[in-house]
Amino acid sequence: MDDTHALSNGDASQNIPSLREMLKVQGTHFMAILEHMSDGLSVLDREWRYLYVNHRIEEMAGKKRSELLGKNHWELYPEAVDTIFDHKLHQAMEQQISLVFEALYPHSNRWYLTRVSPAPGGLVISYQETTAQKQREKELLFQAQITYSMSDALIVSDMHYIIRSWNPAAEHIYGWKADEVIGKNALEILTGSFQTGSRETFLHEMATRDHWEGEVLQQHRDGSQRLILASVSTVKDHNGVVLGMVAANRDITEIRRIDLENLRLLEEIQIEWAHLRAVLDQMPSGVIIAEAPTGQLLMGNRQMEQLLRHPFLASASIEGYTKYQGFHPDGRPYQAEEWPMARSLRTGEVVSAEEIVYQRGDGTRGVMQVSSAPVRDEQGEIVSAVVIFADITEQKAVEQRKDEFIGMASHELRTPLTSLKAQTQLLRRTARKKNLPEVQAPLAKIEGQINRLERLITELLDVAKIQTGRLESHNELLSIDPFVHEMAENFQEITPTHRIIVSGSTNRQMTGDRQRLEQVLINLLSNAVKYSPQADRVEIQLSTEGADALIQIHDHGDGISHEHVRHIFERFYRVTTSQNDGISGLGIGLYIADNIVKQHGGMIRVASISEEGSTFTISLPTTTQ
Ligand code: ADP
Repeated sequence: MDDTHALSNGDASQNIPSLREMLKVQGTHFMAILEHMSDGLSVLDREWRYLYVNHRIEEMAGKKRSELLGKNHWELYPEAVDTIFDHKLHQAMEQQISLVFEALYPHSNRWYLTRVSPAPGGLVISYQETTAQKQREKELLFQAQITYSMSDALIVSDMHYIIRSWNPAAEHIYGWKADEVIGKNALEILTGSFQTGSRETFLHEMATRDHWEGEVLQQHRDGSQRLILASVSTVKDHNGVVLGMVAANRDITEIRRIDLENLRLLEEIQIEWAHLRAVLDQMPSGVIIAEAPTGQLLMGNRQMEQLLRHPFLASASIEGYTKYQGFHPDGRPYQAEEWPMARSLRTGEVVSAEEIVYQRGDGTRGVMQVSSAPVRDEQGEIVSAVVIFADITEQKAVEQRKDEFIGMASHELRTPLTSLKAQTQLLRRTARKKNLPEVQAPLAKIEGQINRLERLITELLDVAKIQTGRLESHNELLSIDPFVHEMAENFQEITPTHRIIVSGSTNRQMTGDRQRLEQVLINLLSNAVKYSPQADRVEIQLSTEGADALIQIHDHGDGISHEHVRHIFERFYRVTTSQNDGISGLGIGLYIADNIVKQHGGMIRVASISEEGSTFTISLPTTTQ
């Protein structure tokens, strides 16, 4: 007897077993469905014990049904305690309510959509795994984020050019909001002209290669033009049917403007450089330019090659400067870092007119007068240095011949003068003896002039000696104060116009050449008197400064203006002003004085205020107190 037949039968008492059978059969079907469900299903009693688990639960748990049934859920899965699963399941159990929630199961790192329903005596729980879906969602979100944060405009249109998507960058570049353009025709919004190719090539490439890339000039909402680098592709479905187009457009207006600006600047620099080059090549001096801080030599002008008689020798660093062969006056070769260029680059030193003996390219030697200076940027950093030099070999030779001539001439003049002086003295003595006053007076005048001539010739000889380094000295121990007082008194005797006032003291002694130091003092005192014709006094102040004795000679003359002060110690230098007009001199007194003081290890300084007078300070190293 089959079940259907039994059902159609009217006998209820007879039908009960068959009904049970039927229910059993249906239960079996039902169980089979549960078993083959893709969701995991479990039934728990109020004590959290497993009453039923389907096959999928076995898979999810990685445990056999026999290992689960009758066991406590929380003991089996302690990792679920205190997670969202714990909270939700307890809530459903306690309140006997149905709940649905999606959460990541901590241990397996998988997502489940969990449905919990109360059942008499427990809970029915189904788990639907959503990990893959979650992953897809994440990817989508990620992609959305990319288009969102892209700086390129990303525009998607359908095959009829109707805009479907418009990212924030597109809003920024074109000035239209997404909701203002979505649904509109892209060809109406993105108007402009092709910069590379044409509309035809665009359509052709899209049709044949599904892609086009090029530059277009497009209009912003505000009417301004934007230069756009566009990359457009067709989008097709898997059957090859065109769905629409995607354009990734980049605004290169600013980049191109900067590129053009740079190009223009570069051209300008090139023109300026060409001008500079032309000017440098026309200059009579040799010029070399180097870059800081490397010291790389950038260029040398044409004159440089002519003066040094070799081509520009490139060097990437200061170390390479030894390719240029220079020598100090004492014959020592210039080390790389000693070259004026290296000093200007490294320390910012301004070198002025340094004389360097140079071994030229053709093997001859010449004297170069070299000056150099650093070039600084707006922040004051040294960016380069320039060296300028001239060949003064010829000039030096002429100077040397002139010095030699002066030396020789003064020497030659001195001999007859000495005899002239002796003869005049003899004549004067005879005239006195014979009491011939009318001869005596003119003879005294002649003697005076002879003395003056002798002084001049001696000074010229001194200059020649200084030039050749042959200024001899005879040192002795000197007490400075008595020496100066004595000097001042002697000078006063021959100076009727000014009072010589000595004040202060040094209480020091020094080793020095009495005659030479006398020469210095007489020179400075003579100048003080000579250049202050309106004044009536000259002051000498004695003092000390550390181990040095200071002798200051102060006059009340016209002073020396700033531009002359730094030159007055130079050989043959004279200041010609209206006040000095008519005051004679050779411009060698201070040159000699300065050299004598230097020979004693000291120095002379000048402080001068125009119209108020000058103070010459001699500082001399002393030995004892
Ligand atoms: P000079 O023979 O011309 O006096 P010096 O070498 O002694 O030569 O001096 C050089 C120049 O310095 C002078 O020509 C003069 O212009 C200036 N000078 C020197 N001393 C003084 C001074 N005390 N006051 C003003 N000018 C001075």
